[in-house]
Amino acid sequence: MTWKDRIEAAKDNGSFSDEDKALARSWETCAVGENLPAVKVSSDVKRLGEDFNGAVQQDDVRQAEHICDRIVQEHFCPQCSQSVGSTPGFCAGCAG
Ligand SMILES: [Zn+2]
Repeated sequence: MTWKDRIEAAKDNGSFSDEDKALARSWETCAVGENLPAVKVSSDVKRLGEDFNGAVQQDDVRQAEHICDRIVQEHFCPQCSQSVGSTPGFCAGCAG
């Protein structure tokens, strides 16, 4: 079961399951670990994971879906793992 599936189920149920909440707390099993296993943990990656976990713990299904979409679409600098937005490549600090 992917987080996309879990979010769809949470939409139907109106809340996340206890299992979802336990998985969201752990770095490897949250939506970041599922979608970005190769990305180093930078402050930007950490923030996404913390925001996602917070939304799941509060049963904020819409917010969790929003953050999950960002995790899937966002690109990170291959050198420092800071967010570079929707286009893959190095960040301004590493590009020079
Ligand atoms: Zn960089």
